[in-house]
Amino acid sequence: MDLWFVSRQRYLDGEHRRIVEIALGGRDYSNPDMLVPQFHDEGREYEDPREAVKAAISVCEQWRKARPADDPHVAHGATAGFTMYFEPPAVENFGPPQMVRERGVLKNNNPDSSLGIGDRCAWCKTKVTRKSGGAFFLDGDEPGATDNKTFCCAQHAEFYSITCWADERYEKMPKCPVCNELYGKECYRLEFSDEEFCSERCAEKEEEAQAKLNQEEEDA
Ligand SMILES: [Zn+2]
Ligand SMILES: [Zn+2]
Repeated sequence: MDLWFVSRQRYLDGEHRRIVEIALGGRDYSNPDMLVPQFHDEGREYEDPREAVKAAISVCEQWRKARPADDPHVAHGATAGFTMYFEPPAVENFGPPQMVRERGVLKNNNPDSSLGIGDRCAWCKTKVTRKSGGAFFLDGDEPGATDNKTFCCAQHAEFYSITCWADERYEKMPKCPVCNELYGKECYRLEFSDEEFCSERCAEKEEEAQAKLNQEEEDA
């Protein structure tokens, strides 16, 4: 069972980037520049990547509110036990449209910068304006980029992408065939079968279902 550890980090990478990281492998596999837990939901391990991402986003928002100058971002990855700094999802921004007067005509000198102006942010539903710094987009390779969404800021694009990543990851995780939930620390099996269940309850349910099936076959 994979574990995801959510921590606040101040990377010693020259820029001192502040990152809320979601590290695969649990507590022992986070990067070494962890800050003391201060906010709700940090410094904890999660089994469900969707829960880990929700926690990391919440921590990032609390941090940003408490100290905007830190400019924290969210990133996920695996250190494999080494120091391996994680990168937040890559985001594009063409800046706000710059209007210049050319031979008496007012022109936008960067047509790309008008993209997405007037759209609502797919994360917070705020209207994207020229004043707010123009629209933000996910780089084509990032999870969720093919949804072609517009965002009001880099963080909201990151939050969206990392949520898409967690959903994809969750889809691929093995689940109990009876209740379709993730397995916990222990699995349960029935005699004479390799199939695994999340709980005794689910194993019993399967046993009952099989007994019923066998009975029906005998009766037929
Ligand atoms: Zn937004
Ligand atoms: Zn189950």
